[in-house]
Amino acid sequence: MIVVMRQQCTVDQLDGVRHRLGELGLQDRVIRSNERTLLAVDDVGEAVDWSVIKQDPAVEMLVPTVGSQLVSPLAHTRPAQHIRLGSTDAVVGSSRVAVIAGPCSVEDECVLLKTAAAVKQSGAVGLRGGAFKPRTNPYSFRGLGERALKLLAKAKAETGLAIVTEVMSNEQVDVVAAYADVLQVGTRNMHNFSLLSAVGQSQKTVLLKRGWSATLDELLLAAEYIVTEGNPNVILCERGIRTFESHVRNTLPLATVPAVKQCSPLPIIVDPSQGTGVRSYVPAMCCAAIAAGADGLLIEVHPQPESAVTDADQTIGFQAFADLMQRLAGVAQAVGRTLSS
Ligand code: PEP
Ligand code: MN
Repeated sequence: MIVVMRQQCTVDQLDGVRHRLGELGLQDRVIRSNERTLLAVDDVGEAVDWSVIKQDPAVEMLVPTVGSQLVSPLAHTRPAQHIRLGSTDAVVGSSRVAVIAGPCSVEDECVLLKTAAAVKQSGAVGLRGGAFKPRTNPYSFRGLGERALKLLAKAKAETGLAIVTEVMSNEQVDVVAAYADVLQVGTRNMHNFSLLSAVGQSQKTVLLKRGWSATLDELLLAAEYIVTEGNPNVILCERGIRTFESHVRNTLPLATVPAVKQCSPLPIIVDPSQGTGVRSYVPAMCCAAIAAGADGLLIEVHPQPESAVTDADQTIGFQAFADLMQRLAGVAQAVGRTLSS
């Protein structure tokens, strides 16, 4: 159960309600979400007489915890969140569509700096690039680690682009947070609850990717793990799910975008690179994502896409990216938005 406190409730009133919960044998946790204070009360598996809590003048309402709460409009007084990308001016969740682009992995200084300059020139607001790469095959390239983070910081110093990069374990949170503006939690870690709590405890914006076999409710509940640790800055990312279809690497369900808009204040971006796995499909799905109302895009770009060390098949080149950005500006305009740059 979630106990939603009135906005004006005092510390003494909050303590009083917590004391009464204790008398009922219930454990609670204080959650501060936007302007409200909530008490998350553990389910004890037995019938509880909630009347004394419900009647307390400091309590606004009780909400059964059957699904996502904090990331649903219910517990929020603001209808939507505009999330700033770290120390940059870039925002995700406004009328401007934010494009984050760059190589799948940080390979070397030259590729990264060239790519950063090119995507910036075409209007991207963020630079992506994996330093710690989750690989199915342990013998594949697994990223340059902290050396890559330093190169990302250099690219940010040169271009002003916000840095988005993946964190794969609790132990990596501090080092990645020291260099990045946005901590990416990848599809394979969407259900890593300990990592979700750890990124929730950091002050950094989190880009939470949908697990490739997770439902939308599971994605929202994963976001809830982050938000309930006191970090409301979560950007959701649809990156495709596994299906029986074999002409694409993943199936990209764009209905996730309007669905999230209907049930959550969190912004949602789309990753058509992982979402298709096919370079020639990426532009069309970027257009479709913006038409569907996405707040941004994550796109893999490389100076020689065919020879990118990771995810070459789905990576596009500089000219293709520049052309795509022109097209996207038109699509954004057609649905009442603009491309931010
Ligand atoms: C990536 O962005 O390169 C990546 C590994 O993403 P995902 O976790 O969606 O597979
Ligand atoms: Mn990739």
